[in-house]
Amino acid sequence: MTPPERPVVVAEHVVKDLVSGFGVAVPRGATTPAAEDVAAAASGLTPPLVVKAYGPGLVHKSDAGAVRLGLGSPVEAARAAAEIRTALVASGVAIEGYLVEEQAPPGVEVIVGAVRDPSFGPVILAGLGGVWTEVLRDTALRLCPITEDDARDMLAELRGAALLDGLRGSPAADRNALVKVLLAVGGPGGVVESLGDGFTEFELNPVICTPEGAVAVDARLLRPSPPPADAHLPRPFPPTAGARPPSPSPAERAGRRGLQDGPQDFTRLFAPRGVAVVGASAKRPNFGNMFLAFYRAAGYSGRLVAVHPTAGEIDGVPCVPTLAGAGVDYALVAVPAERCPDVVREARGVPFVQVMSGGFREAGAVDLEEDLAAAAREAGVRLLGPNCMGVYSPAGGQTFIGGRPGPPGRIALISQSGGLAGEVVRVGERRGLAFSKVATVGNSADVGPAELLRHLADDDGTSVIGLYLEDPRDGRALFEALRAVTKPVVALVGGRSAQGHRAAASHTGAMVGDARIWTALARQTGLPLVTAQDDLIGALDLLDLHAGRDVPASADVLVVGPSGGAGVLAADALDRAGLRLAPLPDVDLGLPVGAVPGNPLEIPVGPRGRPDLVGRVVTAIQRAARRPYPDVLTHVNVQSFFTFGDSADPLLAYAHAVGELQRGLTRTRVTLVLRNAEYAPPGVEDELRAIARSAGVPTYRSIEAAATAVAAAKVRDQRREREV
Ligand code: ADP
Ligand code: MG
Repeated sequence: MTPPERPVVVAEHVVKDLVSGFGVAVPRGATTPAAEDVAAAASGLTPPLVVKAYGPGLVHKSDAGAVRLGLGSPVEAARAAAEIRTALVASGVAIEGYLVEEQAPPGVEVIVGAVRDPSFGPVILAGLGGVWTEVLRDTALRLCPITEDDARDMLAELRGAALLDGLRGSPAADRNALVKVLLAVGGPGGVVESLGDGFTEFELNPVICTPEGAVAVDARLLRPSPPPADAHLPRPFPPTAGARPPSPSPAERAGRRGLQDGPQDFTRLFAPRGVAVVGASAKRPNFGNMFLAFYRAAGYSGRLVAVHPTAGEIDGVPCVPTLAGAGVDYALVAVPAERCPDVVREARGVPFVQVMSGGFREAGAVDLEEDLAAAAREAGVRLLGPNCMGVYSPAGGQTFIGGRPGPPGRIALISQSGGLAGEVVRVGERRGLAFSKVATVGNSADVGPAELLRHLADDDGTSVIGLYLEDPRDGRALFEALRAVTKPVVALVGGRSAQGHRAAASHTGAMVGDARIWTALARQTGLPLVTAQDDLIGALDLLDLHAGRDVPASADVLVVGPSGGAGVLAADALDRAGLRLAPLPDVDLGLPVGAVPGNPLEIPVGPRGRPDLVGRVVTAIQRAARRPYPDVLTHVNVQSFFTFGDSADPLLAYAHAVGELQRGLTRTRVTLVLRNAEYAPPGVEDELRAIARSAGVPTYRSIEAAATAVAAAKVRDQRREREV
């Protein structure tokens, strides 16, 4: 392996010239190679002055003793330069020259930086900077290019934002000036965009913010080595206000694939007219045989063949000797990893080939995976995987799960884990969810989540899309696809806690981890992120059942149910989920004795409670408030029905009442929480779920789970509102 190239440090004054061309204010200054000439160079500058040395090895200048502040005259500046020289020469640091500049008045020091992430592309960071950067780690991140709204949102996100507004009598800094700096760096046509591939890290630290403006007193740029072909520093052109630069369209992206490449329309992937399984054994049953059994159990009605060099049939399925000419739309390959590229090379004519086998990139065999992808390109087929399971679509005959497929539905899923996809489908179906199209993409050597997301975004049979991602490979394409899709999407990202270890020469570089990029991407694309598999199922269910409801965008939730303690805990759970318990209007609800008005609203729900009460109070509240509450979360303690009674009827009646409530409301999402559901006799929980579902009400076992799903829906409400 060749050692990683060290990036090249560009001299500070060169970077300052660059950014000032983009409209960023920098101190007036001059440079000279010799310490003796500093006084002359500084003659036109107004003290106090600052002197800094620059050179190829000088990254953190003050750490090296290469910065002197508060110099009262050009002569003093020259003396400081000589002292810097003595110190640096003693420690063996090469000096290329000296920068002498005017000292900016003190203010709030802010860091504005950018890095180029290998998957997500350029990312901009803003935070409270200067000497505090490392300690505070109070920073906000966005993928570039940013809009003015993004820039303001970044500043609002900082915990220390109040410092910018002036604390304890100090005047407020000029926020607009800082927003301009952010846009000059990360906006359309800004520094980052103009540098293109020509930077690895960029940082203004600090930008000093005062009521008079924002001045970048330090500027750092690290360029890749060797530099890209077009290595000159960009010349600024005026940033085009507001407009996003055109990002490549799907067609353009697709156009980058070679002529030999397979299809970009995935219709047949989800509804193949024929399926071939490669790897089933005539002697010893293996994964291949399992897949044959799956298709047969699912009642697959297209042409099903096994690929085998000698056998005539396997498990009753006819064999063909090779994939070439198998006459199918889809092939599932389950042979040892080393053999996969050859199998794929023979697949010419088969539009989609899924390599289930593992033992590629995930096991360190990067070359083998590249060989596999090259084989797919040569054969003109689209490759799914490797290291995945298959495709599931009850309407199209695809399966990888075993047993009868569930009913066709409207929930789609793209998963980088085959196992997880199987669990989500099986457990989801057990709860009553129904799926349209599920694709597992494993290592995504060819077909990745972004491309499938674009396909599903246009799929009439899909109302909501779930994502399980680990490494989407082309994070930038995913970002763009997420920005474009209007259907609700919800994502579970695995491996977020294992932050990418980046060899960083700047604070920015050290602070941009994968976890934070995902959060930024979610914020910019209005993507709800959940943190558990169960929550993915729960959010998909709610988004599907309430799809198309015109719900007002607000954080408000009305919580209704029995028992004070549960209500108090519900309030805490909602708070954690970022939801708001909207105050109740002043209205006499005619509640029975013991009921507590307020939100959470406590009403008697139990074996002797009146099931119709929930509908009556919610309707009365909405009428008095003269507005729909976007979400009504109803809950019930299942255990109380079977401790103080033994019939399920009152509980079923309550579920019916909640369903009736939903039927009467068009602009409100109703959710039902069956607390302590495991206390119910067998079958009752399913019955309750079915009753609620038939009215379009999703059910949960805990307030926390319901709150997470509701919060996910609200992220989408907000995005919808931003778009109108
Ligand atoms: P480093 O390479 O150590 O980051 P800087 O150029 O940022 O070097 O200088 C260190 C600190 O000195 C800055 O964080 C800032 O507080 C102060 N500083 C540097 N240049 C100026 C200037 N022109 N005006 C005011 N303060 C400055
Ligand atoms: Mg600095």
